Amino acid sequence: MPRILITGAAGFLGSHLCDRFVREGYEVVGMDNLITGDLRNLEHLFPLKQFTFYHKDVSTFIHVPGPLDYILHFASPASPIDYLKIPIQTLKVGSLGTHNCLGLAKAKKARILVASTSEVYGDPTVHPQTEEYWGNVNPVGPRGVYDEAKRFQEAMTMAYHTYHGLETRIIRIFNTYGPRMRLNDGRVLPAFIGQALRGEDLTVFGKGNQTRSFCYVDDLVEGIWRLLHSDYPYPVNIGNPDEITILQFAEEIIKLTGTKQKIVYKPLPKDDPTQRRPDITKARQILGWEPKVSRAEGLKITYQAFQALPKEVLYKQEHRDFEGYIRK
Ligand code: UDP
Repeated sequence: MPRILITGAAGFLGSHLCDRFVREGYEVVGMDNLITGDLRNLEHLFPLKQFTFYHKDVSTFIHVPGPLDYILHFASPASPIDYLKIPIQTLKVGSLGTHNCLGLAKAKKARILVASTSEVYGDPTVHPQTEEYWGNVNPVGPRGVYDEAKRFQEAMTMAYHTYHGLETRIIRIFNTYGPRMRLNDGRVLPAFIGQALRGEDLTVFGKGNQTRSFCYVDDLVEGIWRLLHSDYPYPVNIGNPDEITILQFAEEIIKLTGTKQKIVYKPLPKDDPTQRRPDITKARQILGWEPKVSRAEGLKITYQAFQALPKEVLYKQEHRDFEGYIRK
């Protein structure tokens, strides 16, 4: 049974990855410091022998007993509101956390895949974004803590690849959505659906003419699976090229949820990228990957998952106690 460490296991993407690798017959070691992760995302895996969980901060030295064949480094705050709230941790997990994971991969002779981001392109001046584009990032802006940590992460990962010959993979993830996103993480999809469910107006930032391209989580996980098992060490964009303005997106959510609320306009956050769409030529050619789930389908599944959430989660994120299952 191959053994894999997944950092950020209790988060949105991390927990979906745990599910996939458990399903594929891997022994999965999850790790999370639970700052933004939620153990409810892993609740169903705790009783399995195949799954263990460590409550640890990957930004400090990490020790994992036993062999490891693979590491997926997915720990990080992942929404602009989170970066503002915890900027130092955001910087540390992308930089020191990556360094620790690379060191661990080297010690265990494991292959490592790190989660990078479309944010390495900043507010892009090239559209759509190809992997060759170097980006337009403001290092001292509010998003700089995330963007620059991820850029450092890529540089560090390539250095381990070229200097130590480590088997490394880098995925640049574009906006992704699906069940288990935190309703209050401030990202646009949970924001809009949460507002619709609570009977609040939908808050569009700026004029809403900025664009994003939303990928359903199962498609992303398939891309990660394929990249990990490929032999390609350079960054690969994974995302859905179906681009939409945020105003159109709000209208889609209004239609989907049937809310009677209206759209209200709020100031555009500083350095909010004006457009974003992945060029996925590389993913198509190298991995034979492309997204399969349409936005209509993906949004429907996601809405149903949010509708099923208990009331207290809709109004306030609370953490339950899973003490018996956690290794320290
Ligand atoms: N946005 C919005 N209303 C909200 C939350 C976000 O209009 O309540 C906008 C935000 O300004 C950005 C886009 O939606 O242009 C996507 O924001 P998100 O935080 O999801 O991720 P980003 O792609 O900016 O990292």
